[in-house]
Amino acid sequence: MFSFETIVAPATAPGEASVGIVRLSGPQASAMLAAVFSGHTPVATMASHRLYYGRLLDSAGLLVDSVLAVVMNAPHSYTGEDVVEVHCHGGSQVLRNVLDLFLHQGARMADPGEFTRRAFLNGRLDLSQAEAVIDVIRARSERAGRVALAQLEGRLSQQLYAYTAELKQALALLEAHIDFPDDEVGSLDLSLLLASITAVKTSMQSLADSFDTGRVLRDGLSVLILGRPNVGKSSLLNALLGEQRAIVTPIAGTTRDTLEEQLVLAGFPVRLIDAAGVRDTEDLIEREGVARAQEKAGSADLVLLVVDGSVPLCKEDELAVSLCRPASTLVVVNKSDLPVEVDVTALPSFVETVEVSARSGEGLDSLRRAIVGLLASGPFAGDEGLIVTERRHLDALLLAIAALERFTVAADDSQPFECLAMDLRDALSSLGLITGETTPDEILDQIFSRFCIGK
Ligand code: GDP
Repeated sequence: MFSFETIVAPATAPGEASVGIVRLSGPQASAMLAAVFSGHTPVATMASHRLYYGRLLDSAGLLVDSVLAVVMNAPHSYTGEDVVEVHCHGGSQVLRNVLDLFLHQGARMADPGEFTRRAFLNGRLDLSQAEAVIDVIRARSERAGRVALAQLEGRLSQQLYAYTAELKQALALLEAHIDFPDDEVGSLDLSLLLASITAVKTSMQSLADSFDTGRVLRDGLSVLILGRPNVGKSSLLNALLGEQRAIVTPIAGTTRDTLEEQLVLAGFPVRLIDAAGVRDTEDLIEREGVARAQEKAGSADLVLLVVDGSVPLCKEDELAVSLCRPASTLVVVNKSDLPVEVDVTALPSFVETVEVSARSGEGLDSLRRAIVGLLASGPFAGDEGLIVTERRHLDALLLAIAALERFTVAADDSQPFECLAMDLRDALSSLGLITGETTPDEILDQIFSRFCIGK
């Protein structure tokens, strides 16, 4: 599907930079460049994918900028259309002027994500790959970046196409027996068909199960710092972040709300959350904070239960302890620079106990290692290449799995082949939602509107 309109947008972020790139896509892209470009090589004779030096001149012949220009001929371009990129000086006024030149030539300002949308419509990328483009741009950690790149390279798509191929084969077999009941095609071995569909379903289920890892890679693992007031939670948060974020004060109960910071540990993005001090209190604001801490403890991937090592455990510590799930809690005994007064054997058995001093930094490396150890051995290890990161993809996969479930039940129940075929078609169309074959326009609009202009 080729568009008649030629679109233009800056491809680089606004602000001062050494280079700024303006990108055009559409049938008039080369002609528009030719109208404003003056250099040794005329645009018409430029080889595709080669940079040429020249000057951009406005209609009065005045210099707009000296640039490097590249023409990328259809279909071997990002969008699959003729694409032109002009590398000019990177200042917002220069970019504005260059953009204006092309707008005067009749180009239209591109909508957010329109280049990628054209790439999708022209079959250069399927939808899951197009979505990976945003994830690559937005990746906040090495691992998240690698997963997004693998998706962009088509690892998820290939797996989906493999499922699709198997389901289509099964469907063709069924349809042959629907069209030519007895004679010509022989009798259908339903058990073989069931076995292959069950294998597909099992594989889809494990793909769907990878969503937890995917979610962590995209949004970060949530690590909640929990403990009664004054044990050093804010200090610990700051020490882990390596800078002063939460306000540290010696007055009990000052971190009233929850604070969230992001950091990367061993390639994992981590959202570090400092919950309000957990304490039984009459103070309404604090009670609200405590309720929030309670809620967060339930949903956090990992809880760092902080106790003050320089004093014995008290009732308030017990309240914090009562919020923790043993399997996902690390005990952090803080203030190791002071004489030890705490008896941690009185605590229930949590995963691990680490002694630190948020003040001196002692033990912080062991704490980081303990956190990473839990992450690396936990459900978040997984094969990085094949991970579902989008909620939308998970929903579609679950729909496909449900359809195959219906198929299995119907087959066991010896229902007519027409019913079985319908379930397979449902599963196929659900998979098509991920790759974009059956995705409704309004969903496409939603997806591409998340992109930045110029991508
Ligand atoms: P929070 O209420 O749990 O967030 O505790 P804060 O981080 O505000 O710390 C409470 C008090 O303990 C402050 O006076 C900190 O300076 C002090 N503190 C925190 N960590 C340490 C530590 O490792 N060693 C010592 N000696 N004092 C600490």
